[in-house]
Amino acid sequence: MDILDLIIIGSGPAGLTASIYASCYHLKHLVIGEKPGGQMQFATDILNYPGFEDVSGKDLIERMVSQVKKRGGEIITQSVIKMSKNEIRNTKQIPNLNDQIQKGYLIETQDGKKYIAKAVILATGMERRKLGVPGEIEYTGRGVHYCATCEKQDYDGKICAVVGGGNSAVQAAVQLSQSADMVYIIYRGTELRGDPIWIEKIKKSKKIEVILNTQVKEIVGDGTNVKRAVLEFTGPAAQVSQVTLQNHPTRVGSRPVKLHLRNPPSHHP
Ligand SMILES: Cc1cc2nc3c(=O)[nH]c(=O)nc-3n(C[C@H](O)[C@H](O)[C@H](O)COP(=O)(O)OP(=O)(O)OC[C@H]3O[C@@H](n4cnc5c(N)ncnc54)[C@H](O)[C@@H]3O)c2cc1C
Repeated sequence: MDILDLIIIGSGPAGLTASIYASCYHLKHLVIGEKPGGQMQFATDILNYPGFEDVSGKDLIERMVSQVKKRGGEIITQSVIKMSKNEIRNTKQIPNLNDQIQKGYLIETQDGKKYIAKAVILATGMERRKLGVPGEIEYTGRGVHYCATCEKQDYDGKICAVVGGGNSAVQAAVQLSQSADMVYIIYRGTELRGDPIWIEKIKKSKKIEVILNTQVKEIVGDGTNVKRAVLEFTGPAAQVSQVTLQNHPTRVGSRPVKLHLRNPPSHHP
């Protein structure tokens, strides 16, 4: 078995970038990742990558993969299930172990293959916390987003909802209200938990409405984009601050997300 200079775990933008650099230094290396592209495969439009005015996540990834290969990098589509240092010395499955190998890492993938490298870069990215409701995965990148900064321009003139009640949620709502026509904050708790400075901004905004004691049950689309979210009211009606969901004005050509309550409270303040 060859001893590699480097193994990069993860084939998202970070792993692919690391590979291009490794090639520049003539390092004998491998990229092992579950799926080339990582989170970027879900990005419909990337607008903040210099040099590319209009590019989808998939296209950008294809270019990155092609660049990796052109520079001599190799990508293996697999999950790494084990990485160890000590076992290298003792394992009987790898013949002719010597001192040099003992300083390296043994990487094992799901298909049972083993690789040895002197160094490892972990470019495993992160996993967004999911709501776990029907429609969420299906419409990721097509109306369901996890990054307000990245997608802000997509909400221009639209009605949207932010799910959650902590600092990330209230900051995202304020940010989105700069381009969206209307932003709902949907939170299952009884009051928002963001910093007072952000809560003040929420209260002052005419474009943000807070819906408390409420959970998203389903995200519904037309097969192409998100159209609405189905909400379920979970608390006493008196604690729902504002519920005004239908018939908001939208710009011509916009894709409004209409929200409706499955069990609407009897009293709408
Ligand atoms: C819908 C959407 C739109 C976005 N739009 C933009 C945008 O417009 N502009 C922008 O700058 N950013 C955008 N982003 C964010 C951007 O995609 C991420 O910041 C970027 O992908 C992070 O790259 P990464 O390589 O660090 O991690 P990731 O993309 O998360 O890649 C990590 C990879 O490692 C793999 N991995 C993890 N563990 C293992 C293992 N044990 N074995 C093998 N592989 C493993 C994962 O499966 C994954 O493929 C968007 C994200 C999403 C979801």
